[in-house]
Amino acid sequence: MAEDILGQIYKEMGATPVINAMGSVTLLGGSTPKKEVKEAMDRADSAYIHLPHLQEVVGKKIAEYCDVPSAYVTSGAGAALALAGAAFMAGNDDDLIEQLPNTAGMKGEMLIQKCQRYWYDRCVEVSGAKFVEFGDEKEASESDFENAITDQTCGVLWVANEMSPGTVVGNNIMTNPLSLEKVIEIAKKHNIYVLVDAAAQIYPLDILGKYVRMGADAQVVAAKYMGASQSVGLALGTNEMIEKITKQSFTGYEGRRIRGIGRPMKVDRQEIIGVTVAVHEWVTMNHEERLALAEKQSSVMLAPLQNIKGVNAKIINNIIGNQPFGVKVEIDENITGISAEDLVEKLKSLNTPIWTRNGQNHEGNTIKLVPWALNPGEDKIVGESIAKLLQS
Ligand SMILES: *Cc1c(COP(=O)(O)O)cnc(C)c1O
Repeated sequence: MAEDILGQIYKEMGATPVINAMGSVTLLGGSTPKKEVKEAMDRADSAYIHLPHLQEVVGKKIAEYCDVPSAYVTSGAGAALALAGAAFMAGNDDDLIEQLPNTAGMKGEMLIQKCQRYWYDRCVEVSGAKFVEFGDEKEASESDFENAITDQTCGVLWVANEMSPGTVVGNNIMTNPLSLEKVIEIAKKHNIYVLVDAAAQIYPLDILGKYVRMGADAQVVAAKYMGASQSVGLALGTNEMIEKITKQSFTGYEGRRIRGIGRPMKVDRQEIIGVTVAVHEWVTMNHEERLALAEKQSSVMLAPLQNIKGVNAKIINNIIGNQPFGVKVEIDENITGISAEDLVEKLKSLNTPIWTRNGQNHEGNTIKLVPWALNPGEDKIVGESIAKLLQS
């Protein structure tokens, strides 16, 4: 096992594994399925199964775990966004399903608050939906929203972020968007659908499904944050909307002789079983223990970074969402002689590369260390390696 922990399999192939202090990042592999999930995935090999049937069965279980009417397993939250966009436009009409991403004759526009534009909204556009923005960079009002709704509007995308104001989503600092309560109220009045990107909103547990219970038609969740493969995600929603999303399935080619856009967004039966077990584990596991470990790992990373001239390192104690705790390291380049950016690059070029988050523009000269994906012992290596570079 020890050799596997060090990424031996990659080295045998001539590739260089890294220490991941960035957390759940798709770029580095996103997640490691838990042991229970892996075992369940292996057991899924033992038979073939009609996938629409399997999806229906596990969809009921996942819906129950998340306290929503209905659920559907997708190839990542990104695919859930794409399929939901398609479902908003084509609904149950197979001719329209086959026509996408050409939206001629459909309500092909999705609204989004300008202050909520973010990286992953691109995933919705895969369906053919075009975004129309309302409000400005900082906020949006009820009338901004109402005025933006036309006979071409199929729905609105709302980006969930339960973290404190100023939290970064993609390149944006979360600002003052029109609340989901208001968005749902106005959307219902105008008969348009509401889609919520809640990919990273997985803790506290009542966030799972919360937006659907509030009245959204669907909320997407990234299973990469919950101990499943990073290649799976969930659409949680109303019975009506999950039925429409299901009609976009990659199984439609053979199952229904319908060529929808979902085909390239395939999931394996092993992944479908794995994510079901992962969600069950997530809603029943001891989260106190999970958080205590993340806090301890953060303290271990922090220890060597204290009392270095020009360095202000402190614990990030956020526990909401997907990556609890961490260490923020502020660097005064004039004293350390190295910028955060250069430090990040130097860490990547070590014999065993260490990948960290560099402070995005507005955070200045900082790096962020996330314990989420660290193997045992790597917390110490990360802290000490950074201390060494800062003092050399
Ligand atoms: C990770 C993430 C996604 C994409 O999810 P995948 O499962 O990787 O496709 C979408 N939105 C947010 C906010 C995310 O954090």
